[in-house]
Parts: sequence; structure tokens; C-alpha cells
Amino acid sequence: MKAYTYIEKGKFALLEKPKPTIIEPTDAIVRVTMSSICTSDLHIKHGSVPRAVPGITVGHEMVGVVEEVGSGVNNVKPGDRVTVNVETFCGECFFCKNGYVNNCTDPNGGWALGCRIDGGQTEYVRVPLANQGLNRIPDSVTDEQALLVGDVLATGFWAARITEITEEDTILIIGAGPTGICTLLCAMLKQPKRIIVCEKSEERRRFVQMHYPEVLLTTPEECKEFVLKHSEYGGADRVLEVAGADDTFRLAWECARPNAIVTVVALYDQPQVLPLPDMYGKNLTFKTGGVDGCDCEEVLRLIEQGRIDTTPLITHHFSLSEIEEAYRIFENKLDGVIKVAIV
Ligand SMILES: [Zn+2]
Ligand SMILES: [Zn+2]
Repeated sequence: MKAYTYIEKGKFALLEKPKPTIIEPTDAIVRVTMSSICTSDLHIKHGSVPRAVPGITVGHEMVGVVEEVGSGVNNVKPGDRVTVNVETFCGECFFCKNGYVNNCTDPNGGWALGCRIDGGQTEYVRVPLANQGLNRIPDSVTDEQALLVGDVLATGFWAARITEITEEDTILIIGAGPTGICTLLCAMLKQPKRIIVCEKSEERRRFVQMHYPEVLLTTPEECKEFVLKHSEYGGADRVLEVAGADDTFRLAWECARPNAIVTVVALYDQPQVLPLPDMYGKNLTFKTGGVDGCDCEEVLRLIEQGRIDTTPLITHHFSLSEIEEAYRIFENKLDGVIKVAIV
């Protein structure tokens, strides 16, 4: 089978590899029907994920059909259509039991697929701890509707959940990339009074305006003033920082009203400054990122009910043999791309 492989820093290539087989009784083999490219794949390509192992197949966003299961797998069976979770987790340790699956203490836990072990930009993938890592896709939900469930949409759902959004709130979301928009969709479920999205790219602001006309839009330059003008108590009640750019962390806490919750989902290239003297008396609560992707079943139900729809985000389709081109478009943000589907 063909597998898009991390060769070395700066180089991925489509190689021929043997089809994976069951190793542990808790494994499943999934035939990948659709996968996507995530910014984290680019981080691997650029050598900024030290634990990524050269030679692995990349890709950790995928859906498919269960081909084969080990003797310990009872959650799914061959023939089931499934989403694959970006996180591998045991479901039994202290952290898993409390819903903090990102901190699973199992040696195989955490982000393994497409990083430490072979991932999904290929034809078949071995999914370890499949009872936790696979969720059945409801019959009325298409592969494309479910494509983002295991990663970016899980992140958006989790971010919206931990931010404790109420119907009284003015919320500010910084960043309207794929994760930012998924966060927006999940925040909308909480029906806050007002949603402001701050995004530097005009193309992405247009995208948000076109698909979610009720959202107020601003730019990083005008954000502080804009939020002040559109909030009652000197800033946003809830801020979700999903951009991870140079100044967006500062922007996040500066735009928050006193006693606000600031959720930081963004992954930064550089350490950020938390200038406590400047924010003294502002009494902010910070919550910081690393998705706990344990709500996939609920997310799939919401998709089935038509309450979350990420299909507008999938702006481009390519076949696996065209994956180089898909990366070129995604990496350079060409042609209005938000997410690509590899079919
Ligand atoms: Zn990802
Ligand atoms: Zn665990």
C-alpha cells in the first residue's frame, strides 16, 4: 500500500509499505477512506516535533472502515465505519478515568498515530487501544461530515466545554483557522450572547462572515478597541486563544474583562510572557491547552442531529497519489484552503 512517510526534516514522501497487521489483542486495522492534513503534520515536517519518528506514516485525522480487530476489541467490529481519535489512551489510569485522556500514563498513550507510530495518510492503519480510539459513525453521517471529529473538532469541543460559556457571555475567539472555526462551531452550541472572532487573514474573515453571519469580526490591530465597544464590562467574559501567533497571547488576556476565563488552546513556537504585575487585580482564570479528545461520541451525535457541520471547512479534495499537491496547497494557504480531504 502507499503511505505518506516522514523521511527526515523537511521531507515527506509517498512510499510503498506492507499492510499493517494486528500486534496486540487491543489493536484494530482500519481501512482509511478519508484523511486530512493538520498543522501538526507540518510541525513534524519542519522538525519541530522531536518525538516524531523518521520512517513513520504521517497523518492523525482520518475516518475509515474496520477491517480486522484483535481478540480484546469489543467496541467495534469489522465493517463498522469509524472515526479515529488522535489520542491513544487506556481508559483505565487516573487521568483517563477523570476524562484527562491527553495525560494518559500508558506508555503508548498520547499522540502516537502519525507521530510515534504509523498514521493515517495511507490505505490501512493499525490503531492501538482501539476500544477507546475508535468511535462508530452513525449511518446517516457521511465520512466527510465525520472527518474532523478525532482531532480539530475534538479540540474545539473540548475548548468550548472547559471555557464554561453561558448565554450571558460575550466571547472572543482569536484565530479562525481550522481549529478556531471548530471552536467557534462548538461555542455556538452554548448560545452566548455575542461572539467576536479576531482573525488577521482577510480571506478567512470573509469565510467566517459568509458561513456564520451572526459572528462579529475584527482584526488583531483593532481587536482591543472592538471588544471594548462590544462588551458591557470592559472586555470579553470568555476568551479562547486559538491562533498561537506572536502577540495573540497578550491580546487574549488584554481583551478579557476582570474575572474572565481565558482558554489557551494555541500551540506556540516560543515561550510566552505572563506579566503578572500588569494583570494584578484582573483576577483572571487561565486554562491551557492539549486536547482531551474524550467526547467524540457526543460530537458524532451532534453531527447526526445537524447541530455541528464542519463540511464547509473541507475546501479541497485530493486522492492519495496527489498528496504532495494537497500539502503544497495546505502549507502555503493557497486558493482559500481551510482543510483538505485525502480520499
Ligand atoms: Zn492535528
Ligand atoms: Zn490512561
